[in-house]
Amino acid sequence: MKASKMLIPTLKEAPNEAIIASHIYLIRAGMIRKLVAGVYNFLPLGIRVLHKVENIIREEMDQSGAQEILSSAIQPKELWELSGRWQKYGPELMRFKDRHDREFCLGPTHEEIFTDLIKNEVKSYKNLPLNIYQIQTKYRDELRPRFGLMRGREFIMKDAYSFDMDEKGLNEAYQNMYETYQRIFTRLHLKYKIVLADTGAIGGSESHQFMALSEVGESNIIYCDHCHYAADEEKAESWDSDYKNNEAELPLEKVYTPNQKTIEEVSHYLNVSTQDVVKTMVYKANEAYVCVLVRGDREVNLIKVCNALQIAEHELVLASKEEIEKLGSVDGFVGPCHMKIRVLVDQEVAKMKNIIVGANQKDYHFVNVNINRDYNGEIFFLRDCKENDLCPICKQPLKSQRGIEIGQIFKLKTKYSDSMGCTYLNEEGKNIPMVMGCYGIGVTRTLASIVEQYHDEQGIIWPLNVAPYHVVIIPIRYQNEQQELADSIYHQLQEKHVEVILDDRNVQAGVKFKDWDLIGIPMSITVGKRASEGIVEFKFRSDNQKQELTVDEVIDLIVDKVNKESR
Ligand code: ATP
Ligand code: MG
Repeated sequence: MKASKMLIPTLKEAPNEAIIASHIYLIRAGMIRKLVAGVYNFLPLGIRVLHKVENIIREEMDQSGAQEILSSAIQPKELWELSGRWQKYGPELMRFKDRHDREFCLGPTHEEIFTDLIKNEVKSYKNLPLNIYQIQTKYRDELRPRFGLMRGREFIMKDAYSFDMDEKGLNEAYQNMYETYQRIFTRLHLKYKIVLADTGAIGGSESHQFMALSEVGESNIIYCDHCHYAADEEKAESWDSDYKNNEAELPLEKVYTPNQKTIEEVSHYLNVSTQDVVKTMVYKANEAYVCVLVRGDREVNLIKVCNALQIAEHELVLASKEEIEKLGSVDGFVGPCHMKIRVLVDQEVAKMKNIIVGANQKDYHFVNVNINRDYNGEIFFLRDCKENDLCPICKQPLKSQRGIEIGQIFKLKTKYSDSMGCTYLNEEGKNIPMVMGCYGIGVTRTLASIVEQYHDEQGIIWPLNVAPYHVVIIPIRYQNEQQELADSIYHQLQEKHVEVILDDRNVQAGVKFKDWDLIGIPMSITVGKRASEGIVEFKFRSDNQKQELTVDEVIDLIVDKVNKESR
């Protein structure tokens, strides 16, 4: 392709809202353009990269035995009511009515659609197992769309759904996808970690996330170098401290703590450590109230609370001072004793003896409070995990690292097949719910993650197999011998199926160099002063080292590289 004919609107500056490399460079390189918040157009260079990323995913999915289909973004409300998610999914679901007042949504994910499809098309064990996937546009009305393609309101996902006869089949399908994802992200040259994950709005039992390692990632990975435990912070657990586990239970006492509301104030006033005091947080979970206990030096993890309560994230909010008063307590002095609401206790707190908590009365706390004697509660793992907390498996200090969630796999089991009646007839003629899994890759987010891991001060450095083109030919002045030589190399490379751009634009050489460094074409050939001798300058974008080569040498080098690395 000749650059003069292409739509490559590069920019010197990115808009102010662009603060991470992928957002800045994809816009500056003329690959994407924003339409409205969280919604982007792909321009010619961008769509070429997108197609290459999609094709790598497609090849590996096909290779795994999965079959591609394409379903609509428009989904009828009725199917979402069957699964119970029309209510539960909350404000992220983009809902609308047609002219007959029938309600629909734009799919944020496709469990309902695929379950309904297979329910209607597959009746017998003879047609199982199946794994069906698509690469398709999803819609989520994210609270804060940001970081360009990272968190869009419209984005492209590869989603797959497996249907098996039993759990053994599901485990095999899951393992197959786990390994397929490893192959996909390795082919995409991403440095990533696989972590245990929360199942969120999708539901199900077991789940893993694939995290591209990056400082700008919105996820926090908690991991252990010693035993290879790794989990997303929403799922991560740590070793419970044995602090105050073995004390004898002392008699309950009420103590005067005037105006001492925070953990720090109370512990300072009573001359104890913050670990002796237990934090009681009150939340409204839909219409009911619940209090949550964690040790004074820990934080409550809201996702873990939602999971314990089996509710969605948007259904949990902090209770107001007024609400706390209506419950018969006082803000700053809340505790679990005599509270007539559900009490959730972090498992570490449940092991502690003689804790200090609010007395539900202004200016008073209880000391020597003991579970099952002074209060009752349901025990879960509810606290945040941080670096240097101890590994739940091997007790070594945990580490943390930022990551971008590029994919997630779930064992759904019969969550959707039960509620939606997706059954099959087994060999004995008995109707049995299919056992399902689902498997997502954020295709556009993965593309952005590649840029996060492959860029420098000048711009993007695409790996060869996803680059919009393999090589660019840059004549310093596109005339006379330079033009002749550039044209000749261009045609020779095209004949050898190398994806090549010829920069025939009538602009200064400096502008050309800057543009191609920004766009990130992996190899470039500069045709300049020594064109008449048949000598050109070659460089890899990845190291920016220029070397002089003859035309034959440069063509051999490029063809060899493309043959080896373009897959
Ligand atoms: P997140 O926690 O980042 O909101 P999620 O866990 O809700 O994501 P899934 O339902 O697991 O997302 O969707 C599968 C994949 O789709 C994710 O692993 C991610 O790569 C991608 N994805 C999810 N939401 C977005 C979004 N708003 N923009 C771009 N990609 C997204
Ligand atoms: Mg996810």
